[in-house]
Amino acid sequence: MLQIHQVQAFSDNYIWIISDGTSAWVVDPGDSVPVIACLDRHRLSLSGILLTHWHGDHQGGVEDLRSRYGECRVIGSNKILKGPSQAVSEGQIIDVLGAAFRVIEVPGHTLDHVAFFSDSKLLESPVAFTGDTLFVAGCGRLFEGTPEDMYGSLQKLNTLPENTSIYCAHEYTLANLKYAVFAEPDNSDIQRRLVSVEKLRSQDISTVPTTLFMERLTNPFLRSRDSSELAARRLQKDNF
Ligand code: ZN
Ligand code: FE
Repeated sequence: MLQIHQVQAFSDNYIWIISDGTSAWVVDPGDSVPVIACLDRHRLSLSGILLTHWHGDHQGGVEDLRSRYGECRVIGSNKILKGPSQAVSEGQIIDVLGAAFRVIEVPGHTLDHVAFFSDSKLLESPVAFTGDTLFVAGCGRLFEGTPEDMYGSLQKLNTLPENTSIYCAHEYTLANLKYAVFAEPDNSDIQRRLVSVEKLRSQDISTVPTTLFMERLTNPFLRSRDSSELAARRLQKDNF
């Protein structure tokens, strides 16, 4: 079985480490320091890096990790990044410690953004690393893509199994739910989730991963009926 460790970085980033007990892959290492600390603590050596997109808070630690773990591969986004990263595209399969991860192109936040999905038996449930595209109760800002891009990307993720664990790259949940209550005032699932998340965050407990099932109930962006509703909500949230 594979394990997924959570590493906190900067003020609200999550870096994810997939481990088989000996080797590890890391997703979106914006900073190498907390990644190396986690690898050392669990006596893991790094075999590979998955990148969801080019932003510095997701790949800033790559060069440092590459120089420390010379053999490690660097895979993603779908554009050529600094250093020896291998660009990926829709449908490509990547072997991560025996688990097959499928690349899903999800433009919107950036144009190169990809997600990685696996339903390998080595994992407790299906898993998706969604970077800055699908957050808990939210979605990424539209820096490069259009609302149509983001709508299409979220709907693509929405076709995954409902028990998929969603590992996103930021702890934005509380702010997202405060907006979600405003966007869908009659949605009692959102209201209930806000109460439980307020409690978790007051104790500094992480709200990630989430499940696609919970997002279908409480994420106003995933729940948008069309790209224009998503566009309106995104604009509203940007100024909320
Ligand atoms: Zn980003
Ligand atoms: Fe980010």
